[in-house]
Amino acid sequence: MSRASRVWQPSEDLPTQIGGPPTFSMPDDLTGNTSWERAYLEDDEGGPVNDAERMVYLSGSDYPHRCLWALQGRTLVADCDCEAHRYRDGWCPHVASLWWQWITGRISVNHVETGREYPAPPAWLQLDDDPTAYEQLTPAELDALLTCDLGSLGVREYARVSGRSPGTVGNLLADARAKTEGRP
Ligand SMILES: [Zn+2]
Repeated sequence: MSRASRVWQPSEDLPTQIGGPPTFSMPDDLTGNTSWERAYLEDDEGGPVNDAERMVYLSGSDYPHRCLWALQGRTLVADCDCEAHRYRDGWCPHVASLWWQWITGRISVNHVETGREYPAPPAWLQLDDDPTAYEQLTPAELDALLTCDLGSLGVREYARVSGRSPGTVGNLLADARAKTEGRP
């Protein structure tokens, strides 16, 4: 089968995958790490499958791999169908490639709860946080919390870019803070 003839379908089991896979931490030492060498040296000819998943087709691979790669809560959820993913603390060459592509501005990552697209890792990102920690918030509350309280945007500025009144944003933030009970 040629690459051009492949058609990727959205995963039907996506809802159960979100929040299912464990989050992971950056490896301490990247030198001599095969995953990171491949991520750096090999091009990815894959692309998005849906808002939360991408196919990663590294130039040194015989076939592509399907990766979950999205923001949830204030963390990143990542998963890959390859063997290496399970044995390298999550940093298989495909996930490493996605991280590399993200930090160099070549791909954007979607937040599955707010729908916001992030062209670079946001300041509030914590790789080892619980993806379900903010699931009690509405999308609007979470977006306000991430953007204002955990991000750097002021309430008035956020109100302007989100098309809401400052009073509405204030209410969203108050509700979000009450629901998270001061959780950072
Ligand atoms: Zn992989």
